[in-house]
Amino acid sequence: MKFRKTAASAAVVLTLALSATACGGKEGPAGDKPGGDTDTKALPEYKVAKDVKVDSPVLKKAQKRGKLIIGAKSDQPYLGFQDPSSKKYEGFDIEVAKMVAADLGFDPEKDVQFKTIDSSVRETAISKGQVDLMVGTYTINDERKKQVSFAGPYYMAGQDLLVRKDEKSIKGPDSIKGKKVCSVTGSTPLQNLKDNKSKFGAEPVEFGKYTDCVKQLLDGQVDAMTTDDAILKGYAAERPTKLKVVGETFSEEPYGIGLKKDDKELQSAVLDAVEAHQKDGSYKKAYDATLGRSGSKFEEPPALER
Ligand code: GLU
Repeated sequence: MKFRKTAASAAVVLTLALSATACGGKEGPAGDKPGGDTDTKALPEYKVAKDVKVDSPVLKKAQKRGKLIIGAKSDQPYLGFQDPSSKKYEGFDIEVAKMVAADLGFDPEKDVQFKTIDSSVRETAISKGQVDLMVGTYTINDERKKQVSFAGPYYMAGQDLLVRKDEKSIKGPDSIKGKKVCSVTGSTPLQNLKDNKSKFGAEPVEFGKYTDCVKQLLDGQVDAMTTDDAILKGYAAERPTKLKVVGETFSEEPYGIGLKKDDKELQSAVLDAVEAHQKDGSYKKAYDATLGRSGSKFEEPPALER
């Protein structure tokens, strides 16, 4: 996402920054980055495979329609973010989706349709065929495997906490007793807070989108927000003067690409694609141009499950 500075927009930014400071700060001041910061020039190009044959009903249907429909997140800077003006999606998960699409024979720039799917409706969207694949900070777990299958893990995240920059009392999961902690419906971090209420002692506050939690946090309605470190680092990088990540992960969140349950052929084709791009360096290149810019250093990805 590029933010071009003209004299006029600089003046608007300045005015917004001043009024934001005056009323307690709802938006980032001038200098904060809105919505991620992809290095578009450094993104890899993905060669589109020809004559792809995979014995998968979902893929055959997509080939017939000439479009691969991929579920994505739209409010996670550096991971899955939709630019409000261009409507284009960007971020690391979007790149993973594009590399897989290319290997399945779909041109990522022309033949892929991204659809915003929030955390609580991912399983439904996949099983009802509203999306062919889901690439959106999607933790692989046994509960979800009852409804969908996964190709992965392609990335390992962990639950963490995001707080206001001036927060002193919250230092990790041991210091959220009695605190209001925001997270998203249908997410594993929210479930963890609820399942272990006696251990954490936090008061969960639930919304449908992560950006709702960010707003609550900036407005002082909640004390912290919890989800994967990769997501939280994006919000902190967006508003470095207002927010910070506590930095102590307390769960494992292995990300997988969601697909229709028991579609073994599609699962194995997606795994082949991820593996090929991890080997040829384009996975790392994509990471460095997206998520790597928010403060999550590149680490060797976990072993794929076959
Ligand atoms: N990775 C976690 C999950 O799949 C949290 C992020 C999200 O809500 O997408 O539930």
